[in-house]
Amino acid sequence: MTVLDRTGARPGETSSVLASRIVDGPGGYAGVVGDAQWAAEVRRLAKLRNATLLAHNYQLPAIQDVADHVGDSLALSRIAAEAPEDTIVFCGVHFMAETAKILAPTKTVLIPDQRAGCSLADSITAEQLQAWKDEFPDAVVVSYVNTTAAVKALTDICCTSSNAVEVVASIPEDRTVLFCPDQFLGAHVRRVTGRKNLHIWAGECHVHAGINGDELAEQARTHPDAELFVHPECGCATSALYLAGEGAVPEDRVKILSTGGMLDAARETNARQVLVATEVGMLHQLRRAAPDVDFLAVNDRASCGYMKMITPAALLRCLVEGADEVHVDLETATLAQASVQRMIEIGQPGGGE
Ligand code: SF4
Repeated sequence: MTVLDRTGARPGETSSVLASRIVDGPGGYAGVVGDAQWAAEVRRLAKLRNATLLAHNYQLPAIQDVADHVGDSLALSRIAAEAPEDTIVFCGVHFMAETAKILAPTKTVLIPDQRAGCSLADSITAEQLQAWKDEFPDAVVVSYVNTTAAVKALTDICCTSSNAVEVVASIPEDRTVLFCPDQFLGAHVRRVTGRKNLHIWAGECHVHAGINGDELAEQARTHPDAELFVHPECGCATSALYLAGEGAVPEDRVKILSTGGMLDAARETNARQVLVATEVGMLHQLRRAAPDVDFLAVNDRASCGYMKMITPAALLRCLVEGADEVHVDLETATLAQASVQRMIEIGQPGGGE
């Protein structure tokens, strides 16, 4: 009888050899290179598990290239719900895998490393949100999709960066709005809607907050013909609009875009050079979408360490062991699903981050 190991491989075969190299280091799972041999094994194991592989735009290029689908968090969660496979491997951070589980409750949702968190989602806990709600009992709570399932369950309407303005505008003007967790997106919404009764939680993503207005101004000055694609979560979004208003950067050169919106704009732009203010993983998809355009990072240190915890070794381990599985209890999932559903019904939700 031939003995197969847990990877479905015979002793000494590629999968077994690769899996034996995985080590759990300080930055996550390591020891495996994302080469063609690894990619073939990932594809084989995914098929064996009847799993579909989803990768967020901020993932490492090797992970994006091996995935069935690459996109932003909401688009991927919708694909998860509709996929014929009964297992979803979500290569992204934990709240994104939770959102996929909320929209696809009957499926097994795996994340290659459950330690991949998000500083923005961690900016507000369910307990903090409940205390804030207690202060403003009649307020409507709007939460950006970068939140935990427990926070979504306490939320009236979720929003993405594409429809945050429309979501807030859909709420009667006399109702107080609590907006969380991203202060930059909140400031953008307040500026556009002119709404005074909008309270903003002081949360931020450490990666986006690190892209500042000074860098943007300097890059705009040294690349006078470049367009600027700015994600509204960036600390520089306010500066970008301010600079445009001051005439320092021509207004039509600045585009405030969600990640999905950036890909559409990349395909349509006539500019030969584009400065991009968001996480650097996005450059891989932009260059694929428009290979003739020169995309430059406003800050090339803007890399999300949590996203990069989904290494080739982590993905291989996930497929070998069927771990880490994402669980959301039924009550939380039902409440969270309602707030996500309201988000999908308003405007063009796009895909969030
Ligand atoms: S880039 Fe920021 S918001 Fe996105 S996952 Fe990383 S920490 Fe969270």
